[in-house]
Amino acid sequence: MSLHGVVKKNSGQDVYVCHACNDCDIDVHDEMDIPLASLVQLILLNDEEALQSRTLWSDSVLEASRGACKHGLDLHAVMTALREESTRQAGK
Ligand code: SF4
Repeated sequence: MSLHGVVKKNSGQDVYVCHACNDCDIDVHDEMDIPLASLVQLILLNDEEALQSRTLWSDSVLEASRGACKHGLDLHAVMTALREESTRQAGK
């Protein structure tokens, strides 16, 4: 299943609603290697690099992601689903 499909199934969030506006620019840049908007784009590209990004595994980013998208995407749920997928793959 694609990353988009995994995220949709496990979080109920459809990242296709993201229009790359970059409004989810949260203030924890020292813990991020890529912006949240880019993390979403990696999901759309089905690029598994999303699963290894520092951004995904920062607990500060995860916390700050709550309500970060002003356009209806629950980024906290998206990140949690990605983390679960990464853990699932590592346990193969
Ligand atoms: S604010 Fe929401 S719609 Fe805009 S880039 Fe971030 S995730 Fe996408």
